[in-house]
Amino acid sequence: MTLLEQTGTTETATEHVDVLIVGAGISGIGAAHHLQERFPGKSFAVLDALEDRGGTWWTHRYPGVRSDSDLFTFGYRFKPWRGASIATSQEILSYLDEVIDEDGLRERIRFRHRVSAASWSSEDRLWTVEVTREDTGEELRFTTGFLWMCQGYYDHGRPYRPQWEGMDRFGGLVVHPQQWPDDLDLTGKRVVVIGSGATAATLIPAIAQTAEHVTMLQRSPTFFFARPKTHELAETLRLLDVPDEWTHEILRRAYIAEGDEITRMSFESPDELRTMLLDAMREQLPEGFDIDRHFNPTYRPWQQRLALIPDGDLFAALREGTASVVTDTIERFTATGIALASGEELPADVVVTATGFDLSVFGGVAFTVDGEPVDFSSRVTWRGVMISGVPNMAYVFGYFRHSWTLRADLVSEFVCRLLAHADERGAGTVVPELRPEDADMPLLPWADAENFNPGYVTRSMHLMFKQGDREPWTHLLEYAQERTTLPAADLDDGTLRYR
Ligand SMILES: Cc1cc2nc3c(=O)[nH]c(=O)nc-3n(C[C@H](O)[C@H](O)[C@H](O)COP(=O)(O)OP(=O)(O)OC[C@H]3O[C@@H](n4cnc5c(N)ncnc54)[C@H](O)[C@@H]3O)c2cc1C
Repeated sequence: MTLLEQTGTTETATEHVDVLIVGAGISGIGAAHHLQERFPGKSFAVLDALEDRGGTWWTHRYPGVRSDSDLFTFGYRFKPWRGASIATSQEILSYLDEVIDEDGLRERIRFRHRVSAASWSSEDRLWTVEVTREDTGEELRFTTGFLWMCQGYYDHGRPYRPQWEGMDRFGGLVVHPQQWPDDLDLTGKRVVVIGSGATAATLIPAIAQTAEHVTMLQRSPTFFFARPKTHELAETLRLLDVPDEWTHEILRRAYIAEGDEITRMSFESPDELRTMLLDAMREQLPEGFDIDRHFNPTYRPWQQRLALIPDGDLFAALREGTASVVTDTIERFTATGIALASGEELPADVVVTATGFDLSVFGGVAFTVDGEPVDFSSRVTWRGVMISGVPNMAYVFGYFRHSWTLRADLVSEFVCRLLAHADERGAGTVVPELRPEDADMPLLPWADAENFNPGYVTRSMHLMFKQGDREPWTHLLEYAQERTTLPAADLDDGTLRYR
């Protein structure tokens, strides 16, 4: 029996599929596309706890929600993007709907199906997956030969929400962008947004249009980078009636080259890049704005996410005076606002905690292998795609500095190659295992804090799996490296065991 040909158990409540994909966000839908294209005869299902597709783009509904990557690279390689480079969540959802309809994936996706546990049996060469229906509470069971985890990287139900003294005394409203109330009307309200990451940068110009005033309150600055929402080259190519497929590929290459250059500068000439970013911001900010205090971070550019400002909309709000920035530390909440360490008090009707999220390790699914619980923090990643000692399981984790989907596409192609290879070998199981020469390899944190260290990564590092000091036990962060190394990865180098 090969990996993709195993049959299910005969228990009545159990449904068997050859491949089970967890997550119907951009990664899971992409995985389903690649799988179906490469193995049209194989059965598969996509399970998602939410009530609809889109993951991140379904969950987040705060005003102005949009991508901060260009959609030529955040979109799939196989599906041309036809809009402006920066897209709203609605446009991204429509793009995903087109993929779902074109591929006939709708009947494969089961919504409101939360996966709670996955147990591998070496004897049966199967995963047994426990699922709860979010709407009815019904318990379901699936078996599968291969588990493809496309669960994203954070908990969709529970955002990161630090607590400050006095929050219970605050007379206004506190909201988190991940749980934005549909009926929240900010007209005429004084709003304080805590945080200055991509979410704050998106939200502030959108709500500044109706609020009385919006204050971005940050403990420390972020690098911002204004870019046009639409790429001039895309407009030119469209005017020339160049086919959409070509425009998509040309723009992908242009954005990848630009991203690579900024990443290269962030490592090789960080001071030059810092100056470039600050100069660009200075041009957009009001006269006399204290740029060093508010927009000059202590970290190296790209050591944390560089927040893109489409058409400079955040800077426009600062110039117009509908928004302002305060760099200070929260001492406590008061009945009417926030008291700061400097002694100042910010009055607020509404406080938005744009404080981000915590990493979620494999969607909270409890894994066991032959009855032994898997403690991921003691396991090692295999090229950021599989986990040591965990058979027949792959996961998708996109890039931080480039579009997530560039990696999702690469990983999908890789997983299909691996499945075909295992099939050719007549193997029912493939599992990464440390070779004798890897046995005393130093185990390093999954993400190198020197390389990339935003709060959500550092807060949860202790829960995450590790990486080694050599390939294939690494998780590379650069598309420039992986675009050649992953497709060329040797599947018979002794680190993958086939049985
Ligand atoms: C507001 C926001 C904007 C972003 N913008 C960008 C951007 O512009 N560019 C970029 O590269 N990245 C961006 N990111 C990062 C972004 O999350 C990813 O790029 C991408 O959308 C992730 O897709 P995904 O399918 O891997 O995960 P998600 O979108 O997180 O989807 C995962 C899905 O898996 C489901 N799931 C998880 N656990 C389980 C379980 N146990 N059982 C069943 N289902 C489960 C979830 O319900 C969810 O639907 C952004 C993130 C946020 C929060």
